[in-house]
Amino acid sequence: MNKQNYQLEMEEEISRLKGRRPTLLLHSCCGPCSSAVLERLREHFRLTVLYYNPNIEPEEEYLHRLREQQRLLNLLGEEIGWMPCPYDHEAFEAFAPGMAAEPEGGKRCMACFALRLNYTADRAAEHGFEYFTTTLSVSPHKNAEILNRIGREASLRSGVKYLVADFKKKNGYLRSLQLSEEYGLYRQNYCGCGYSRT
Ligand code: SF4
Repeated sequence: MNKQNYQLEMEEEISRLKGRRPTLLLHSCCGPCSSAVLERLREHFRLTVLYYNPNIEPEEEYLHRLREQQRLLNLLGEEIGWMPCPYDHEAFEAFAPGMAAEPEGGKRCMACFALRLNYTADRAAEHGFEYFTTTLSVSPHKNAEILNRIGREASLRSGVKYLVADFKKKNGYLRSLQLSEEYGLYRQNYCGCGYSRT
């Protein structure tokens, strides 16, 4: 089976906009990952960043990443909207302990993606956004096929268009490293949950 080219799909979707800049609610896992994604999308969409990551522990780490996200948006000095969310770790704890033995990239991660993407789709519908998507695919550890499948399902349920993407393509991850350095962003050394801490 041919592997889908999600980067190309995204470019085709953008070209169909013919210069129109619709609203897009961008789920962001952290400042460093969002840096390259914001750079790639901001000329095509009117962006608002949603920070909803109940998977992160401890709470201090959640707040630290949130503050770094906000600092990046201030540094960009752009008209990018900002939607921070309170720490909602119970939502992650509701399913994760039953999947404790899963490896990184397994069923626990799929449920973790679904939690965050479904929440983003619902907020996008509630606030009248035309599109939503997530920064998560910028990471070489995150499977774009799984993320896009979950995103499309959330789109069907919510009625908001999902922007298919694989932000690691075209050196997206490398660019996130460069921009993190340029902006002096804190880069965490684990994905977020307690299971991913070494
Ligand atoms: S490893 Fe990352 S994606 Fe997987 S469950 Fe933990 S925080 Fe979520």
